[in-house]
Amino acid sequence: MNNVREALIRQQFKGLAQTYSGLQLCEDNPGRWVIRGMLSFSATFQDVTITDAFSILIVLPDDYPDSPPIVQETGGRIPPDFHQYPDRTLCLGAPVEVWRRFKANPCLIAFVETLVVEYLYGYTYLEKHGSLPFGELSHGCQGIREYYMDFFSTDDVQIALALLKLLADGTYRGHLVCPCGTGIILRKCHGPILLGLLKHQPKERFLRDATNILYSLEKSEMEHFDWDLLPKVLKREIDEMASERANREKCT
Ligand SMILES: [Zn+2]
Repeated sequence: MNNVREALIRQQFKGLAQTYSGLQLCEDNPGRWVIRGMLSFSATFQDVTITDAFSILIVLPDDYPDSPPIVQETGGRIPPDFHQYPDRTLCLGAPVEVWRRFKANPCLIAFVETLVVEYLYGYTYLEKHGSLPFGELSHGCQGIREYYMDFFSTDDVQIALALLKLLADGTYRGHLVCPCGTGIILRKCHGPILLGLLKHQPKERFLRDATNILYSLEKSEMEHFDWDLLPKVLKREIDEMASERANREKCT
């Protein structure tokens, strides 16, 4: 099994090195494959071409290509407050989107060419122009909320949660009416994009993302919030917390 993985990694790296010759593949520890070196790129977005180079480290997870690689910038150029996780790995986008894009084409060249180069392009653009080229991306739970609202094409956070609930609960059925309010059955409405997300990702991710969206709600949104839109597990946890608190505060 390990040999199959190694052969796949070596073969994918060959393709990567043809475009990005400053990168090297190394086996740091037995079975731990990393790619390090200078990533030189030239990319154009809306007529603005940026040519730059960053020192990077790409770590291939143990189950690669079941999960996407993780990336660090090792030249000390990108400050920690620019879209990075606490362990300094780059936040290439909402995790659900990184997975979706990686699984659509699970190879190193596509991963670097799209997700990594887009991120680095964005950073260089910010250095030069003082703003981000693709619009400001939010961090943390706000970023996840924006991702789903954008992906589901809705400006109603409750609709985003209602759609996410189908994924987290595993209750998607094509013949049910779509919860977005069109009155159309899922199969002819949000169904195809929901199934696209569901295809390669664990249900737990959608539960976690629904929790993140719940944290992003403002006080005014909580007032009219329909708690039944939350995934079952999350709703149960919140109900349990509420009843525990009620018990604690009970006067004896
Ligand atoms: Zn719909």
